[in-house]
Amino acid sequence: MDSAPKTPVRTRFAPSPTGPFSVGNARTALFAWLYARRNGGTFLLRIEDTDMERSKPEYEEQIRDSLAWLGLNWDETPLRQSERRAVYEKYIKKLLEEKKAYFCFCSEEELEADRTAQLSQGLAPKYGGRCRSLTDEESARRAALEPHVIRFRMPQGSISFTDLIRGEVTFEADIIGDFIIAKDERTPLYNFAVVIDDEESAVTHVVRGEDHLSNTPRQIALQKALGFGTPVYAHLPLLLDAERQKLSKRRAQTSLLAYRHEGYLADAMFNFLLLLGWHPEGDEIVGRDEALKRFDLSRVQKAGAVWSDEKLSWMNAHYIRAMETSALLTELASFVPKAWQEKKELLAKAVGIEKERMKTLADFASRAGFFFELPDYPPDMLFWDEKPDESKENIRALHAALEETLTFTPEFLTATLEARAKETGKGAAYWPFRVALSGEQSSPGGIEIALALGREETLRRLEIAIEKVEA
Ligand code: GLU
Repeated sequence: MDSAPKTPVRTRFAPSPTGPFSVGNARTALFAWLYARRNGGTFLLRIEDTDMERSKPEYEEQIRDSLAWLGLNWDETPLRQSERRAVYEKYIKKLLEEKKAYFCFCSEEELEADRTAQLSQGLAPKYGGRCRSLTDEESARRAALEPHVIRFRMPQGSISFTDLIRGEVTFEADIIGDFIIAKDERTPLYNFAVVIDDEESAVTHVVRGEDHLSNTPRQIALQKALGFGTPVYAHLPLLLDAERQKLSKRRAQTSLLAYRHEGYLADAMFNFLLLLGWHPEGDEIVGRDEALKRFDLSRVQKAGAVWSDEKLSWMNAHYIRAMETSALLTELASFVPKAWQEKKELLAKAVGIEKERMKTLADFASRAGFFFELPDYPPDMLFWDEKPDESKENIRALHAALEETLTFTPEFLTATLEARAKETGKGAAYWPFRVALSGEQSSPGGIEIALALGREETLRRLEIAIEKVEA
């Protein structure tokens, strides 16, 4: 095992319920979950809903549904940040009392002017320090009258940490400057609330997206100021689209549950997400149990991980094919019209045949209609190439041969079709037979379909075909 942590591992997944649960969220949750489970540790869920305006109960529900769908179970009761204001207040006051934080009264205009001045001098913008040295009296007097925020007094020097994926990372505190930690004593911002919660939940490993990398020095500085320890960090590579741009909501389908509704299997999604940054030795098909044995943060790449719809759909087709038909029937329940479900035996047969070809669960309903309803197709579709007469003759001959006997086995059907093929060529025998049964340009083979439909229905469809060509 890579880092063989000494203490019991505690990881957390800390989504904000401010939008649809994205595939990026899912990848982060998966890696944090796997790391905990792989090391016999604890996986925590924390709802980061400090942004009251943008946080919505339906998004929180999506978080829970998404994790449940992927099978990422969490331990302990999730913390909800909106319920922890009193806790944050205690720590914000402590920092204010110790003068590690201070009230800032700067207006938007003042801050903007500072920014412009810094940029014009070729400096990276940061807080200029106007309120840094106000006396206690002045601060208290103005706090009672003026709008303000609370800033952290960022210590000088550099901040380094060893990231499990990125290795040694160093930031200069000077570039960061005094950042805002709270709107007021009861309203912390993200960086502050995270530090308190990670400490109080005794989180040992923070596994999260690379977009948070620049927050880490801020969080470490806060931990030091509060006398907390620092967890181990692992920043996962960015997700990129096919053009190697950051995977964005505008350019790609990023809601996890939308994939579920399109008929992707949780196991396929699990395996696909796993490969977004982690590389197994050998085969890329790595199921849940295998992942729990093999997952390792040291095999996670630094470079961006490319999302590929083709690969996901290949993966999904693989998992569909590998499934027992009975299990697949259960997964298909919400994708199949009621009327088809009533024809249980036929449905099982159709699923058994189509599972070799389906890419998604939704594919089944669009591919398999002809098993359940009489196909509708133009008569000339029955004619193979330049052989309309032979095609016609074969439909009649096949019908006659099948009507003559009750034998309806693969061997009998093959022999009958082969006998016709000998006379007229393969195409003129097999094509009209398959089209008469399916009405489709492409479908599973005629014999497979006939066996699923049964003798009577096969005869009926051949009779309809005869009527069509004679009309
Ligand atoms: N709430 C943050 C987000 O949804 C995650 C914070 C973290 O993992 O530290 O991006």
